[in-house]
Amino acid sequence: MKAYDTVTISAVLPENLEPLRTLAKNLRWSWRAETERLFKSIDPELWEATGRNPIVLLTKLSAHRIAELREDEDFLHRLQVEVEELEEYMGADRWFDKASREHDDHLTSIAYFSMEFGITQSLPVYSGGLGVLAGDHMKSASDLGVPIIGVGLLYTYGYFTQTLSREGWQQENYTVHPPEELPIDPVCGENGEQLHIQVGFPEGRVVEVALWKAQVGRVPLLLLDTNIPENPEDFRAITDRLYGGDIEHRIKQELILGVGGVRAVQAYCAAVDRPEPGVYHMNEGHAGFSGVERMGQLMAKGASFETALASVRASTLFTTHTPVPAGIDRFDVHLAHRYLAADAQGRSTLVSHVPVERVIALGAEDDPSRFNMAHLGLRLAQYANGVAKLHGKVSRAMFKDLYPNFAEDEVPITSITNGVHIPTWTRGPIKPIIAAMSGQRNVATANHWHFPDAVGLEELWRVRNELRRDLVELARKSVHDSWVARGAQPVELRWTRKLLDENALTVGFARRVSTYKRLTLMLQNPERLAAILRNEERPVQFIIAGKAHPADMGGKQLLQELVRFADEAGVRDRIVFLPDYNVTIAKVLCAGSDVWLNNPVRPQEASGTSGMKAVLNGCLTFSISDGWWDEMRDDEVGWTIPDAVHPDPRVRDQWESNALYDILEHEIAAKFYDRDDRGLPVEWMQMVRDSISKVGPQVSAERMVRDYVTELYLPAGRSGRMIADLADAEQFAAWKQSVSQAWQGVRVSGVEASTENRVEGGIIHLAAHVNRGSLQASEIRVEAVVGERDAADTLCNPHIHEMTSDDEGRYRASITVDEPAELGYTVRVVPHHRLLKSPAELGLIRTPH
Ligand SMILES: *Cc1c(COP(=O)(O)O)cnc(C)c1O
Repeated sequence: MKAYDTVTISAVLPENLEPLRTLAKNLRWSWRAETERLFKSIDPELWEATGRNPIVLLTKLSAHRIAELREDEDFLHRLQVEVEELEEYMGADRWFDKASREHDDHLTSIAYFSMEFGITQSLPVYSGGLGVLAGDHMKSASDLGVPIIGVGLLYTYGYFTQTLSREGWQQENYTVHPPEELPIDPVCGENGEQLHIQVGFPEGRVVEVALWKAQVGRVPLLLLDTNIPENPEDFRAITDRLYGGDIEHRIKQELILGVGGVRAVQAYCAAVDRPEPGVYHMNEGHAGFSGVERMGQLMAKGASFETALASVRASTLFTTHTPVPAGIDRFDVHLAHRYLAADAQGRSTLVSHVPVERVIALGAEDDPSRFNMAHLGLRLAQYANGVAKLHGKVSRAMFKDLYPNFAEDEVPITSITNGVHIPTWTRGPIKPIIAAMSGQRNVATANHWHFPDAVGLEELWRVRNELRRDLVELARKSVHDSWVARGAQPVELRWTRKLLDENALTVGFARRVSTYKRLTLMLQNPERLAAILRNEERPVQFIIAGKAHPADMGGKQLLQELVRFADEAGVRDRIVFLPDYNVTIAKVLCAGSDVWLNNPVRPQEASGTSGMKAVLNGCLTFSISDGWWDEMRDDEVGWTIPDAVHPDPRVRDQWESNALYDILEHEIAAKFYDRDDRGLPVEWMQMVRDSISKVGPQVSAERMVRDYVTELYLPAGRSGRMIADLADAEQFAAWKQSVSQAWQGVRVSGVEASTENRVEGGIIHLAAHVNRGSLQASEIRVEAVVGERDAADTLCNPHIHEMTSDDEGRYRASITVDEPAELGYTVRVVPHHRLLKSPAELGLIRTPH
């Protein structure tokens, strides 16, 4: 007989187990091992079967198990301890409170917009590095007490899970994730109903958006959902899947995130009686429309376009994550037009009051048919950053045309290097060691963690072996299950039990499969690789994972090439691909590998974070000098693959892969297998210890979030408050216009230099006459620029000194030089205003002819 329909009976918890639900609803458990263990101990198999989802676990508990647990004194005690610990965590006074008291600052909160958040496997709203970074940002903000509010989308299907076909071709599987199975709650208004906000779409249609909240420790993460019965089918599908669909689908999602996100965060703040955010952080260009919505709200209050722009910019931060122009989100300008939907007056019906043409101009780039979300972000934000030092530099070069007349190094894009959340990314027996080291709180240890004397090299080697064993075990199971899914019979799969070697040098490589990351660089010379893998005295094994974007056929081909190599070259026990890379696999893989390989095309890796996770577990770095490793590179605690600069990418890949094989075989394997009579690789373990001590403190997300707070959030909060009054914003906007008009009257002439030689170095006296035209002295800044000149007469890395005017109106400066040198100099005039953060913002500069 066929079933007519399905009904579900969920477990109801008795009162003394009810606190489990509180623990399950706060994602703090995802970085508190004790709470996670508590869940797991309820039913280890069910725990894995539910994808480590405590919400589902609790609804599926058998009556028998509930009856056991409610009488289990030990379990109840542990439950009590965890509940109390969570309460204490939530209430503790943290770093941010102290920091703002010291700065006498009053930043209300920061709204952080991101297309994805990687917090834990059971909240599937992430795909890869960008999401994990946003997740780690939320977690560290929670630990530090930073008042941040995350804003993202709730995807019905999340991102895909990956399996492989028999031929090794990536298959994407999408599963529905009903909200009741996720660690989220509806955000409710006064009447107890779930809050909705509305976003206008073309042809007068209106999208209803429901608001959910995930609690990440102390940080609320708002998630916007259009998959609700009030919407017609096409609107319900807007938040269907992350990075799925065509470009039109993407603009719809970004409008919901940006425009809807601002309305959502305001509705949330009103509902919980919290002041509105003082700073808006756009994590990548996806969130660019948030600034447009905020401008629209100010214009609705009567502000002009310029005033609204000045006001929004003052409190907005934009973070760029890609040094590759192709990685930037760009829309067809007609599509942007259609969605911003101008009415008869040319004003948007989507964001009321903003003039569409002018918004389009904010996203303009070289190609007039494109609307560029990174350009939109930069024009809407007075604060901007890249995610590693090298990436900051590359970004300044990439976006310098937005700041005409200024040298590249004055482009106002700074950098804050990414980090990873230590409690999330350290696992097993190394976790307490790292927790103790990172907990050392004094200035002397800020850049160097002292390795605990109690942990000797032998002990550390045991820890490393245990982490490697866990990884090998996971790999065996994963490969077995993957072959079953590829259609193999379990009897054919006995070999998977002997897959890999628990004691062999293990190289990990896992990340998004995109061309520049060069998954298959290691396959340049397959015979040589196979020989390295099969070496009997010094065996090497590779464990690899990563998803290709569903539309990226090239990426899928690379994946297939790799999987086929493993199958066909007779090395399938030495090179293993783990399907469905996610945060759970990443934890085991980064921790259990001995060496973490990263070989992107320099400088296309913005930062990279998986290598940071590896370092924190005692895995050593083997990388091209790119992203984070470019600035933290230390060849005493890792290996750098020299990057080859060659116009032909095939030659470059060949050179770099040869270097990879050489270093792996002659340096890395040699060192790993160099053992003393106890079987201990002494030098290797010294490297492990030093890598943790030296690199560990630099890669922590706590360091990253502190940097964001002190270098960007607090300043943006202050400049936002300085301009909070629309009259101030209006004055500033008017000043910008008038100074631009008056600039043609500004002249520099009569520049004179004289020098005074001293025993050590000397002094340069500079003087110049400046004609200010119609401007006041306070509206300009006159600067001496001194530096070495190159063949093209450009001043390299110049020093800039403010010049002061004397009674006769001549500007003067005296510059001390420490060393004998031949230096070039000039004098320049730039506009000055207390609300102007960088002179490059206006593109106005005057130098002598
Ligand atoms: C850390 C992580 C990434 C990012 O790795 P990169 O080295 O930055 O490429 C991607 N996916 C998952 C699941 C991760 O945990």
